[in-house]
Amino acid sequence: MKKKDFVVVRYGHRDVRDYRVTSHCALVSRAFGASKMIVCESRDEIAENTIKGVNENWGGNFKVEFIQDWREVVLKLKKSGYKIVHLTMYGMQVQEVEKKLIKLNKIAIIVGSQKVEKEVYELADYNVSVTNQPHSEIAALAVFLDRVQQGKELDKKFLKSKLKIIPQEKGKKVINTKK
Ligand code: SAM
Repeated sequence: MKKKDFVVVRYGHRDVRDYRVTSHCALVSRAFGASKMIVCESRDEIAENTIKGVNENWGGNFKVEFIQDWREVVLKLKKSGYKIVHLTMYGMQVQEVEKKLIKLNKIAIIVGSQKVEKEVYELADYNVSVTNQPHSEIAALAVFLDRVQQGKELDKKFLKSKLKIIPQEKGKKVINTKK
């Protein structure tokens, strides 16, 4: 079976206002099995540093990249064989389209912050909603990545981690593998 790849495109990051949300989008993307997040419009070093620290402690090779022009990013991804999914409350319901999407090997997922321009809807191969109610890009990403991988990402192993959690019914158990 071919390895799947999910890339998240963060559209319209606004300095200061979006720092926390963009960092959380990166954390969710990493934890739920994406390989990379590309932040457009602005460089968010907080998201970059957050992920660097998380990778060092918790493993894996998730990347954060910055490319100013979202259009350039989307067209390049399309050229390299990615299908573009734009998450929007106005799109087709995820439970309706997931059967088609599960079969794809390379998906780039666009999430907005501010109002998303019309061209994004047109360039996307699929405009997909996670409920038709307004909520957040963080929640939409988590639900979408879970649905499209049918929950398999929950068992993902993160290689070369320094810290490892041993799940407990109560309390916390963390092993430092480098000690
Ligand atoms: N007001 C903005 C607009 O009209 O485009 C949306 C802002 S919303 C806080 C930020 C992002 O969250 C959206 O661009 C979309 O990617 C995602 N989002 C919010 N609700 C969603 C939903 N029900 N389904 C899918 N994505 C959603």
